[in-house]
Amino acid sequence: MKLEVINLVKKFGNITALNEVSFTVPSGEIFGFIGPNGAGKTTAMQIISGMDVPDSGDVLLDGVSAVDYPEKLRRSIGYMPDALPDAKDITVGEFIAFYASAFGLRGKARSQRINSINELTRLGELQTKFLNQLSKGMKQRVNLARILIHDPGLLLLDEPAAGLDPLTRIELRDILKGLAEQGKTVLLSSHILSELEDLVTGVVIIEKGRLVENGMLNDLITRNSSTDTLDTICIDTIPGTVLGSWLSRIEELDGVRAVRAEKSRSFAVVIEADKIPGLLKFIAENNFPFASVRRTAYTASLEKIFISNTSGEVQ
Ligand code: ATP
Repeated sequence: MKLEVINLVKKFGNITALNEVSFTVPSGEIFGFIGPNGAGKTTAMQIISGMDVPDSGDVLLDGVSAVDYPEKLRRSIGYMPDALPDAKDITVGEFIAFYASAFGLRGKARSQRINSINELTRLGELQTKFLNQLSKGMKQRVNLARILIHDPGLLLLDEPAAGLDPLTRIELRDILKGLAEQGKTVLLSSHILSELEDLVTGVVIIEKGRLVENGMLNDLITRNSSTDTLDTICIDTIPGTVLGSWLSRIEELDGVRAVRAEKSRSFAVVIEADKIPGLLKFIAENNFPFASVRRTAYTASLEKIFISNTSGEVQ
């Protein structure tokens, strides 16, 4: 199921939670929805799921408007909010069975569906446990089973990896990959970049209600990496006090795409390759006392793309 978000605008009083946000998640892909606290992720997910309406803009699922026809698309969407169930008087088996009935599943179809979801989310041995006896990772699996029971084509998961240990995250990744292979489209949010890096095939990056970047991970990395026109120069050992003014002068030079702090007293200039002689001349003419200038090829990562495109509030 293809998800298209088109020019979404949502205001709460004088706060603009979403400001003309547009992006597309192709069918069968797992996209990370990444942005700092308050960026607008939950607001967007609630609108996509039909729980809220935008001030303007549209959401299309395989071309059908979720804003105009929320009822029609309810069965196509599985929305997992970040709060997990915690009831002490209901077992995992009863919880999933309840949702299966609520979606109208009966008889053999119901038991077959429950069995296949239990297998996919590995809930077999948890059937008789009460919800409040589960670990966080187990609860995530129960919650995932709950939203899968009606076989939706689009899964919206709000902060599903929050607080999971690495092993449980790998388990979640394997489950999501299996779902994507079945053709399901997944959008999962996080404000912690490293949580999603090994889970997703694409990203939508959002900050202060505005779209910053989006696309397939491979395309973004190729687009942001060194080709014959991009290169990195590292310049070491700079006294901190005057660094700022030098950096802003370098930033204004022709061909400079970005200047980023790499580590203490060292930074990288991402610059078009044919403009490097101009940068070296500028450094020499201004007698900048740099200890070393190193030229290296630059390979982008999700983290580098994020840092160079946002104010860096995300961990
Ligand atoms: P987090 O990672 O902290 O969950 P988020 O990216 O999901 O953040 P949202 O919850 O969508 O961000 O919030 C976006 C902005 O809209 C924030 O400034 C928030 O305070 C504001 N906001 C969200 N819901 C409401 C509401 N019901 N009333 C008023 N303001 C709201």
